[in-house]
Amino acid sequence: MLNIDAKYRNILPPLIGVALVFLLALLAPFITGHDPVHMSISERMAPPSMEHLLGQDNYGRDIFSRLLYGARVSIAVALFSALSAGILGITIGIIGGYFGGIAELITVRLADIILSFPPILLALLIVTILGPGVETLGLVLTILYMPGYARVAYGETLSMRQLEFVEAARALGSPTWRILALTILPNILGPLIVQFSLTVSSAVLIESGLSFLGLGVVPPDPSWGLMIREARAYMVYTPMPLLWPCIALTITVLAVNSLCDALRDFYDPRAVSTNFLANLAKTLIYAPIAKDYSQIDAQKAESALLSTSGLRTEFVTPKGRIRASNDVSFTVAPGETVALVGESGSGKTITGLSVLGLVPEPLGKMTSGQVALRSKSDEIICIEELDDEGLQQVRGDEIAMVFQEPMSSLNPVYPVGEQIAESLRYHRKISRPQALLTAVDLLESVGISDPAKRIKDYPHQMSGGMQQRVMIAMALSCSPSLIIADEPTTALDVTIQAQILELLRNIRNQENRSFGMLFITHNLGVVAEIADRVLVMYCGRIVESGPVSNLFRSPAHPYTKGLLASIPHIDHSSGDRQPLYAIPGTVPALDELPPGCAFAPRCNLAIEACVQELPELEVVGDGHWSRCPRWRELRG
Ligand code: SF4
Repeated sequence: MLNIDAKYRNILPPLIGVALVFLLALLAPFITGHDPVHMSISERMAPPSMEHLLGQDNYGRDIFSRLLYGARVSIAVALFSALSAGILGITIGIIGGYFGGIAELITVRLADIILSFPPILLALLIVTILGPGVETLGLVLTILYMPGYARVAYGETLSMRQLEFVEAARALGSPTWRILALTILPNILGPLIVQFSLTVSSAVLIESGLSFLGLGVVPPDPSWGLMIREARAYMVYTPMPLLWPCIALTITVLAVNSLCDALRDFYDPRAVSTNFLANLAKTLIYAPIAKDYSQIDAQKAESALLSTSGLRTEFVTPKGRIRASNDVSFTVAPGETVALVGESGSGKTITGLSVLGLVPEPLGKMTSGQVALRSKSDEIICIEELDDEGLQQVRGDEIAMVFQEPMSSLNPVYPVGEQIAESLRYHRKISRPQALLTAVDLLESVGISDPAKRIKDYPHQMSGGMQQRVMIAMALSCSPSLIIADEPTTALDVTIQAQILELLRNIRNQENRSFGMLFITHNLGVVAEIADRVLVMYCGRIVESGPVSNLFRSPAHPYTKGLLASIPHIDHSSGDRQPLYAIPGTVPALDELPPGCAFAPRCNLAIEACVQELPELEVVGDGHWSRCPRWRELRG
């Protein structure tokens, strides 16, 4: 007995059904020796016989041959219109959903205009202008079905474009067309396959309906719709000539629907272990892309690996412009880990995204400041001066990012090995087998056992800790000079969190790695374990910065002091857990900040002068700065 994998068992019956229908249509001339348009008036409405298996119609034509030849027309029209409408609609929908703005206006809204026309009236209009015929039918159905695909692709892309794994693909430096084709499209194929099945079935029926109305296939050419139309007048006397095309229609529609359902399940990697569509897409689309740094203007060299100066990133909101990060200046030295700390809304993540040129446009934009990166070849790259292509080359290769949620940052439809190999193939221009071999080494280096086997795993087959190790392996793949880790341990439980921190520490201390790290977190406990220096952010500004030991021992800003007091700790003399401190009040909205110190409403040291004028950063110790003029009272 054949031992067939369950996923193939599910797809085989409908595949055989559809193949049979197609084969019968294709081989019609060899199966029946009758000409489908040959009339024999003397034998009209003759019953089935050995010569005419299904009998003859009202013109004496062989019903079986008309049924087989009719299938050719019906299936060809249905497939052509479903495919052409699909290609057009999906392209329009993805472009509109991904880019938004003017692209959305001229793509998806065009589809909406077509959708707003009554479909039959639109079909009648086109047939009246172009005249009936198979070609017109194909065009009519393409126009009618295109908006359906566009709406599905648009909606799915909208919900997908801000997901972490799309951000991660951008952070790896993938060009936009690769993100659309290899990241977004494979993830929205499920509903599109369903749409395709509905379209093919519906097109077969509509072709029959329009031919039935005399607006489709022109007699005497056979089609199922025409057969129904002609047999209708005689159905009271002989119902079978009407039933045969109806039965053929039903079987075809059921077979196509079942095949598309099975394909959708087959394609979903959460249900199966592999998929051929994604592999096919990758084989067809992947190609090495030349690297060109000619767009990059060098600026005066500095010793820092990363240096930001007066960085300001603004967002347009219904209440006006807000500054999510404002006048942010800091450096990261080679091999140094700098922690960016603050509550939600403090601007730390936006600062990290600004460094990578990943601020979500069009509502957000880095409006002033400079971000300079020392490349691996010791050139200074001005990030804010790069165009899209320059940014793509820097992302993943010079700067890599590790996101907070590994499950949503990894693309669910590709094995993890392929995802690690993607960045290597793009930036290193190496072959897929070479990239996969390197992926195995990388997985091993981040502590994943049996890496040769695990590269074939999909993200959902791994635990959260393993997924984050894969994200770290991806970040390390091109040996970047800077890694931005955005809350990489927040989504993990405490034990795994400690393991990931240990892993990051070990990797950073390896002799052959000298990357700097910008570690974004809200957790000062984590900072103590991993960072060399800390930048504390509040309402978009740095309010204190300094070496970890100095800042923890002797904080010089009330906000930092409040954050430190909020860390749970145990009194070692009594063994009792100390009560948790909470900073009073909440972070103010960015559009309602006072002109002076934004922390004033929550600060027990605030005086009138604090709300009048914004305090400047001042030196409070060795490499230690604070934006609070009352830092002495705080320490005293
Ligand atoms: S400047 Fe004034 S309000 Fe702001 S933290 Fe210092 S003391 Fe508090």
